[in-house]
Amino acid sequence: MSQASAAVATQSLADEFNPFLSMAQLFNTAADHLGLDGGLREVLHRPDREMTIAIPIQMDDGSMRVFTGYRVQHNFSRGPCKGGIRYAPDVNIDEVRALAAWMTWKCAVVDVPFGGGKGGVICDPRNLSQSELERITRRYTAGIMDILGPDRDVPAPDINTNEQTMAWLMDTYSMHVRKTTTAVVTGKPIALGGSRGRTEATGRGVMIIAREAMKKLGLRPQDARVVVQGAGNVGGIGAMLMHREGYKIVSISDQYSAIYNEHGLDMPAVLAHVKKTGRLEGFKEATDIKNNNDTLELPCEVMVPAATENQITSKNVERLKTRLIVEGANGPCTAKASQILDEKGVLVVPDILANAGGVTVSYFEWVQDRMGYFWTEERVNNSLEAVMVKAFADVAAVAEKHKVSMRIAAYILAIDRVATVYRLRGVFA
Ligand code: NAD
Repeated sequence: MSQASAAVATQSLADEFNPFLSMAQLFNTAADHLGLDGGLREVLHRPDREMTIAIPIQMDDGSMRVFTGYRVQHNFSRGPCKGGIRYAPDVNIDEVRALAAWMTWKCAVVDVPFGGGKGGVICDPRNLSQSELERITRRYTAGIMDILGPDRDVPAPDINTNEQTMAWLMDTYSMHVRKTTTAVVTGKPIALGGSRGRTEATGRGVMIIAREAMKKLGLRPQDARVVVQGAGNVGGIGAMLMHREGYKIVSISDQYSAIYNEHGLDMPAVLAHVKKTGRLEGFKEATDIKNNNDTLELPCEVMVPAATENQITSKNVERLKTRLIVEGANGPCTAKASQILDEKGVLVVPDILANAGGVTVSYFEWVQDRMGYFWTEERVNNSLEAVMVKAFADVAAVAEKHKVSMRIAAYILAIDRVATVYRLRGVFA
């Protein structure tokens, strides 16, 4: 057992739930395999730059409130930082740091020329009007303006941010630099230089990766019961695309509740129901499950956690009954749970590979914006397919070579690619 693995085995629950520590432990295990020297280890582990800003906003009722926003640029040695912006009440600096680092590794796994960044604003969008959200987005953008730009840092949507948020960000940036600059952000509406296929890209990538992993396990889609956690961009669309491929989606959950049908859910009808009512609850051809966390313990062949971090932990991992986990969300399994899953022989395809479809098509969007030439959806989808299939094969080959899990293999591949760039560039002084 490496030093890092031993540390994972003995860590406290608080440490287990700290996503940056979780990331650091996996990083160290992979760095041990690579024999990475101490100096480079420190450089690659630490964020390059962090910004914390106050966002004063006049609310609709005339009162003033100050929100806190972050942008962390973990590493920009391979290109501009890339990563989403999250709006949620529990956003915190350690979470943003971890998400930024995961973006560095994710971009390297799929070999797109970006570094990793992430942003967040502490707020509860459910209690904010559209105009308050617009003011928060514009003031946040103005606050981090100096470190943004198509060659510096290119944000994208994440939890509770969407195409409209990206349109406001693009407009605010463009007004400051006095020219329309579409390539400063991805995940924009198509009318503003967005890419065809971007909205579905992460879910499509999850579907492609699930298919490749199933082949490895000798399973066919029609024999697979799938449990999906999260019914948003990644979970909802991923479930829909897997349903189309013939998988039986037996359960899907959102933050309020979950639904179950052992014969498989009619996903287009489920999503139409969510669109109409805002909830999964009450879908007539399924049973409601009140406690959404219970679905993680349902028997299935494939589990797609596509909601948020720390969902599969040392507390519930022993009760899981699945053969394959495809991580749609970032960090849904803690480092400790991952280790237990490996010991149980569950194949886990890690976030930095499984949900990299989004950043891959974000890269295509950035390329199209810079060329001023836009691709067909077919070209986007075919290019995405090629990148994801190659990345899966690359990670599987490293796993085979080093006799490690897919997760550690993905970190080894990514860290090696970033370290190579450092060695070639040298350290500017
Ligand atoms: P989203 O806001 O569109 O959807 C999130 C979904 O998760 C919602 O249905 C919400 O109700 C549900 N949810 C929240 N807490 C839950 C819980 N405890 N149990 C069950 N469901 C819960 O967000 P998204 O864009 O789909 O992002 C989901 C995850 O995927 C995040 O970890 C995000 O960082 C990651 N991710 C997103 C993209 C992307 O392109 N959108 C790309 C890569 C990774």
